[in-house]
Amino acid sequence: MAPHSGTPSSLTGPGLVDPAPVVPESATVVKTDARRSADAAGGARRLLARLRDVMAASGTAQARLDKIVMLIAAEMGADVCSCYVMRAGEVLELFATIGLNPDAVHKTRLRVGEGLVGDIAAHARPVALANAPSHPNFAYRPETGEDPFDSFMGVPILRGGRVRGVLAIQHIARRAYDEQDVETLETIGMVVAELVATGELVDNRELQVANDLVLLPSRLDGVSLNRGITMAVAVLHRPQLTIRQMVADDPELELRRLREAVDSMHSAIDRLLILSGESGGEHHEIIETYRMFATDRGWLSRIREAIRTGLTAEAAVQQVQNDNRARMASVTDSYIRERQLDLDDITNRLLQHLAGRQDKADGGTLPDEFVLVARNLGPAELLDYDRTRLRGLVLEEGAAYSHVAIVARALDIPVVGQCTGVLSRVDPLDFVIVDGDHGQVFVRPAEDITEAFLKSIEVGEERKREFAATRLLDSVTRDGIPVRLMLNAGLLIDLPHLHATGADGIGLYRTEIPFMVRHTYPDTAIQKETYAKVLDEAGDKPVTFRTLDVGGDKTLPYFPDLGEENPALGWRAIRIGLDRPAMLRKQLRALLWAASGRDLRLMFPMVAEVSEFIRARRVLDLELRRLEQDKMAPPRDLKVGVMMEVPALLFQLDALLPHIDFMSVGSNDLLQYLFASDRGNPMLNNRYDLLSPAMLTVLRMLVRRCEAAGVQLSLCGEMASRPLDAMALLGCGFRTLSMSPGAFGEVKTMIRSLDVGVLQPFLDSLLNRQDRSLRQHLLAFARDHGVRL
Ligand code: PEP
Ligand code: MG
Repeated sequence: MAPHSGTPSSLTGPGLVDPAPVVPESATVVKTDARRSADAAGGARRLLARLRDVMAASGTAQARLDKIVMLIAAEMGADVCSCYVMRAGEVLELFATIGLNPDAVHKTRLRVGEGLVGDIAAHARPVALANAPSHPNFAYRPETGEDPFDSFMGVPILRGGRVRGVLAIQHIARRAYDEQDVETLETIGMVVAELVATGELVDNRELQVANDLVLLPSRLDGVSLNRGITMAVAVLHRPQLTIRQMVADDPELELRRLREAVDSMHSAIDRLLILSGESGGEHHEIIETYRMFATDRGWLSRIREAIRTGLTAEAAVQQVQNDNRARMASVTDSYIRERQLDLDDITNRLLQHLAGRQDKADGGTLPDEFVLVARNLGPAELLDYDRTRLRGLVLEEGAAYSHVAIVARALDIPVVGQCTGVLSRVDPLDFVIVDGDHGQVFVRPAEDITEAFLKSIEVGEERKREFAATRLLDSVTRDGIPVRLMLNAGLLIDLPHLHATGADGIGLYRTEIPFMVRHTYPDTAIQKETYAKVLDEAGDKPVTFRTLDVGGDKTLPYFPDLGEENPALGWRAIRIGLDRPAMLRKQLRALLWAASGRDLRLMFPMVAEVSEFIRARRVLDLELRRLEQDKMAPPRDLKVGVMMEVPALLFQLDALLPHIDFMSVGSNDLLQYLFASDRGNPMLNNRYDLLSPAMLTVLRMLVRRCEAAGVQLSLCGEMASRPLDAMALLGCGFRTLSMSPGAFGEVKTMIRSLDVGVLQPFLDSLLNRQDRSLRQHLLAFARDHGVRL
């Protein structure tokens, strides 16, 4: 019986789960004491030395593999040692065994995901079980002809980030494997990976050809994290460096190499810190975190320990990374997972330094145009790539509000996230199409698909060129009404758009975004620096800063997860600011410092009651007084406003309007609260329309009330970025719209073709209709009146 090889047929079933499944991250792993650890290290070193001799010996690869399994079984006192190698079609074939029926060699085959061995390959992580037969993935494979072995431990054979096989040992007597056992087998797995990679056991072309067959044409579905279509060759983020030598001759030499590489990495990180400090990028602080990791004693001492077991410095770094990944596999906490990304990045940097390559990610070796494919990556890592060549991004993980998605949107590249399996389907330099409009990725697409997408891209490019040409044109309707077009921004890398789009200013600066891409809460001085840069960059153009709008869908990595049942209706935005006035005060102080002697516009988000605005305004007054005491110049001109997002405020306009200088409608949230419809829930997509009579009636009313009160009014939700919706806004009387950078051309083209004097009465006549949406009527108007949408 082969406990590791089963199909889910027999011996499986609920209630048979091993009460002590020993995977490395599980609590059942037996911790070793120092003495055992030293013994085990000695054993591992001996085994590695013997493996090195086998690897260097002459003879076929098969003969060497046969020797290796014998050696492992002998050294680890195992009754069975087997090696499975990946063949075409994601099948694992038993290539060598000691202890199982030798006739099963080259006959027993398992699909990835099948049995314990398949499970290890599917998840690329070790499994160690004291009582394997009771595991749900365990089953009986008769051809191996063995009696059941109680205990089983297997590790993936990894090469270049891909699973190339599985190495397993078994014991008849039940035993709990400990961390040291798993690490030893993992180390050996790395040595075996070298043998597999030679292509002598399975011709590498076999896998290549099979992949091509399986993958052509290949479409992978994901989730759109940023719109747009692009095509280019793929670059895999952090491709694993090929480690040529696993076993070291001289541990002292390896320790010295490690020391030198760590020193050189420190200097490189310090240089990056200085550079990012000069340019003030948001990733300054992230790089500081990297330095923290790079000097982490625990991490470095584990690498040193691995070297002392006989590994080369590179192999030791790799082993510690594998081990960390396995531990992290079951962690769901997003903060900890982000830290794992940082640690992965540091590992890769250290490997580069060991290899004597200290380039940045672009390294001068990147193709002229490329699509980056990654499991996930941090915002700083994305910014490490040459932006002029980066055309798109595909992530196995990634969510709409992940930091990297925010940065990618600022870079204006198509992004598809949650694209499961993309890393195993794409090889470096494969041609890929990223369709960010529909959340799909085509790998090595057929010619007709490429041509169809090329046409879409061409049409899109042509429109972009047309729109770019509108930059210098006035934003005025056909009947001569000027419309102010403002930019929505949040990162320093958004700011060049201010000039590229010809925007009149920044209508919404989301201050929470710089907070979201950091690992720690920024102090007042850091905040001031950011805001001052925004004002510097904007020059004479006005900037409206919105105070921190966190909570709901915008989480900060360093804020506790409150586990609210309805975060969108929960403790967020100004509610946090008023309950934690120190936070609000610090932010207002930073804004006042930054705007000393200049114009400042600031607004408060998610205000639901006039009293909330008044309390927030009082906090601002306190800070203004403090500024005076500190003998600092106040802003030259200070305007204070609110976001109109919570419907309750619509019924307090009489009380509110006298207190505010301006109002900005947050249509994203206003719609969600007006219709009780979660803005992020795909099930509700298009169910309620911004162009409904209800929404447009509210907007029309706001225009009238603000006009009468002399309060400036604008709208900064996504609605302003869509030409037809923006047309409706002009029909309601809006004359200031704030939008994302990509929308300027289309919206300005619409404005210049619109006779708003004709639209206004038409729109008024529609507001009493019973339709759920006025979209079709407005589309018909645009068609009939030559409005370019
Ligand atoms: C809005 O709600 O429309 C808005 C602009 O704010 P945010 O999208 O940042 O919530
Ligand atoms: Mg909002």
